[in-house]
Amino acid sequence: MLSSALGSTHDDAGSELARLDALLEAVPLAVALFDGSLALAATNARYRELTGLDVSQVGRSIYDAFPNALADLTEQVDIAAGGVPVVSVRVPFQHRGGRRLVEATFVPLTDVHGARGVLFAGSDVTEREDLREDLARSVAQLESIFDVLPDSVRVVDADGNTVRTNAQALQEHAPSTPQTLRELWQLDRPRTLAGTTLFVHEHPTARALRGERVRGETLEVRRGSGDVTAVVEVNTNPLYDPHRRVRGAVTVERDVTERTRLQQQVKTEAERLERMVQERTRELLALQEAAARDRRLAAVGQLAAGVMHDVNNALNPIMAAAYLLEMNAENPAAVRDYAARIARAAETGAATAARVGRFIRQEPLLGAREETVDLSLMVEEVVAMTRPLWQERAKGGVVKLEESLAPRTLVKGIAGELREALLNLVQNALDAMAGGGTLRIRTAATASEVSVEVSDTGTGMSEEVRERAFEPFFTTKGVHGTGLGLAEVYGIARRHRGRAEIESIPGEGTLVRLVFPAGTSDTTKRPALQHGARPPRRILLVEDHVDSREFMQQLLESDGHHVHSVRSLEEARARLDDDTFDLDVLVTDIGLPDGSGWDLVAFARKKRPSLRIGVVTGWEPRNEQDPACDFTLRKPVGAADLLEEIAGQQARTQN
Ligand code: ADP
Ligand code: MG
Repeated sequence: MLSSALGSTHDDAGSELARLDALLEAVPLAVALFDGSLALAATNARYRELTGLDVSQVGRSIYDAFPNALADLTEQVDIAAGGVPVVSVRVPFQHRGGRRLVEATFVPLTDVHGARGVLFAGSDVTEREDLREDLARSVAQLESIFDVLPDSVRVVDADGNTVRTNAQALQEHAPSTPQTLRELWQLDRPRTLAGTTLFVHEHPTARALRGERVRGETLEVRRGSGDVTAVVEVNTNPLYDPHRRVRGAVTVERDVTERTRLQQQVKTEAERLERMVQERTRELLALQEAAARDRRLAAVGQLAAGVMHDVNNALNPIMAAAYLLEMNAENPAAVRDYAARIARAAETGAATAARVGRFIRQEPLLGAREETVDLSLMVEEVVAMTRPLWQERAKGGVVKLEESLAPRTLVKGIAGELREALLNLVQNALDAMAGGGTLRIRTAATASEVSVEVSDTGTGMSEEVRERAFEPFFTTKGVHGTGLGLAEVYGIARRHRGRAEIESIPGEGTLVRLVFPAGTSDTTKRPALQHGARPPRRILLVEDHVDSREFMQQLLESDGHHVHSVRSLEEARARLDDDTFDLDVLVTDIGLPDGSGWDLVAFARKKRPSLRIGVVTGWEPRNEQDPACDFTLRKPVGAADLLEEIAGQQARTQN
């Protein structure tokens, strides 16, 4: 527009002007050119857009060239017209219903003729100004947030000079105001919680100035006049310029004195409680130990008293008989009688000793006498042995049997002892079911364990009885009980490296479980008892003790034998003398009322050389086996042992 405004006289000049025109349009400013008479000579599009004037307004006076300016520009125009530039005056313009802020510059112009003119250049700074205002507002907001923070915030420059401090930070050292990191360090005298004093270069702010970000470092610092200390948690960040050079650091400190004190208190309290718990536990353990010792001593006392009682019971008749023996030494019948009494009393004592012994010898077997026993077969054997006695024992009602026997329930051990244990359990179950009930026997085997459970629907046990049931001589059956059954069971289980457990509900019944380590089958012994497999024998049984005699007779008959039983030496001799009396086996007690069983053995051997002869004795068997007899059984006689011996080879028949 410049070209048309100034007119063109020459083609070259014209193209020059066209270039100037293009230049005017290219500058990002509103531009207007006024001639020597201060009349509008040329404009660019930005100017026209700003003022709303169009190209037809050429020649308009400079004083009317800014119709929408919201400030009077007369003064500035005059100054410029007078030859002095006026630079960067902020002038608001009314613009299409909005306001624009323009930085206006008026520059005096001279041409070759010296004629004066004025150039107006206006830069629209509305956006920039808005931004500046926004920024100022944000900074003000940040500053107030800064001051309201409970943490103290300090900004230092790269040399450690304080640049900014918030209100919290200011009051920490009032009335002094540390101007540098060094001053701050001198006032704070920071130390670690362990008491190590920090050098100034170790201060978190100093480290931040070396580029480190410090997080949650706890320090003890001085406050106020210096006798007060506070614990602070420090966080710092380095501040970078656009070239990633450290330009300063910001340090935020939080006062955690109270929190630390509380934590310390909680820790102390927790430690105190822990100590208390430990002390109480120790006391409790000591008490438990004392209680266990009391129980052990009570059990030992009970054991000693029981043994003493039984020993006395055995000794009394022996002493009486010994006395009478002396008095009647001349009377052979009396001597034999007293000798027999002594033998019987001693046998009773020996039997008790054997049972107590089975409880006492709890140390595991060493394998010497071990064989492999199938518990299920053993159960069948015990049931067969005792069944004839069940109805007699269960006075009030019928005892039903339920068996659940697993195959291959193999245990390493002593068959006689395992049988004894099962016998005791069955006996107890029957005792508990005087009015009838159900006897259940279960066996089970896993890869590692073999178990047998004997349960009944009888009286059950109270908790106290259950706890003490394994103690030797503990019985609730008065004179009818020995209190040795479960003690034996316990000892036998232990000796077989197993365990015994009782479950019982009073009024409902009891279950006793024996668990053994599983054995292997290599030396499995055939069960002693096999019904129908053994030939029946004709047996003469000599036993004066009525219970013992009846038990053995029933047992032998239950195994299919024919039994003739007598009470004395005299009767036995009479039978042996009778040639019509057919006989395979003689079983005799040693302590007989009218003489020694050994005499009977000698007599029988002479009379009937092929007879199989066995003795039942409570005494240790004679050191050298009496050649006249084929087998010796110790009292109390294990039923299966008896049956096995009876079924044994008729050794003398071949002779
Ligand atoms: P005893 O049978 O001679 O009393 P034990 O050692 O066999 O001695 O048993 C001890 C006590 O345990 C018994 O007196 C009885 O109180 C209790 N007991 C044992 N087995 C049973 C059972 N199956 N049911 C109820 N009580 C039992
Ligand atoms: Mg018993």
